[in-house]
Amino acid sequence: MIQFFLSLRARRPSSPLICALALVCGCVALATAPAAQASLRVLACEPEWAALTQELGGDDVKIYVATNALQDPHQIQARPSLIANARNADLAVCTGAELEIGWMPVLLRQSGNARIQPGSPGNFDAANFVTKLEVPSRVDRADGDVHAAGNPHIQTDPRNIAAVAAALAQRLKEVDPDHAAQYQARLDDFNGRWTSAITRWEKQAAPLRGVPVVVQHKAFPYLLNWLGMSEVATLEPKPGVEPSSGYLSEVLAKLQREPARMVLRAAYNDGRSSEWLAQHAQIAAVVLPFTVGGDDQAKDLFALFDDTINRLLVAQGAAHKAAPK
Ligand SMILES: [Zn+2]
Repeated sequence: MIQFFLSLRARRPSSPLICALALVCGCVALATAPAAQASLRVLACEPEWAALTQELGGDDVKIYVATNALQDPHQIQARPSLIANARNADLAVCTGAELEIGWMPVLLRQSGNARIQPGSPGNFDAANFVTKLEVPSRVDRADGDVHAAGNPHIQTDPRNIAAVAAALAQRLKEVDPDHAAQYQARLDDFNGRWTSAITRWEKQAAPLRGVPVVVQHKAFPYLLNWLGMSEVATLEPKPGVEPSSGYLSEVLAKLQREPARMVLRAAYNDGRSSEWLAQHAQIAAVVLPFTVGGDDQAKDLFALFDDTINRLLVAQGAAHKAAPK
């Protein structure tokens, strides 16, 4: 079971009753859980890891998601409800690579929960199990770069999801050995479905190979690398730094020399700079879900990639038709 009350609060502010019920039910369930309660309590930092943990954990896990797809995972407040859930968690599943450096250390400290501290089996960082891109040779945080440990947005390549799934299943077995067989069975089942899906996505995405794009935030290097697309410019002068109008004009000028087909942003991004560029460069502005829940279609990990590829293909088709002959 995944508690999505944070998502509900953010996306449907007119449903306070649902939020309140979800919150109360969640707290009661945690507070009254007996010592021998079957469910492993998992704190997932981002929706993609909640979805993956649900695939692997099934009925053996109870998941609380710290963020939703419409929030910038770099910038989260460690508020009381989050701290309460961190206090009760048996396992924290996060991205790592410093994605959560602005809030997770505070959350871990305030939780007082030894089980999920760094170095404990209950502390799982997904980025430790993939090859990171954009790892800087020289770290300089002074100018606001939020990707100082390499690019943390690993979930946009499904091959990374597969690598994390194997490691996460292993960790679930370690922290909850009573259900080891179930975790392994679910991993095997997931791997079968995921491998077929990757083959299908790669076939569908073939027309995207070589397509040049602009990105707003450096959120998609893994996706572009997987699909063979190329990034010709970034709207943020450095990851996490908003562009000035002068900088946007420089990007626009660059596109005169090196055209792009579309400008990509994540569901949580403010769209103003992307829309400005799209209008002035006459290219498509594409909003990608980025994680589970980023739009109405991206309901689970499979639908996340179905929808991502579909949106890119639609934009590519439109750009292709609009391109001068
Ligand atoms: Zn980032």
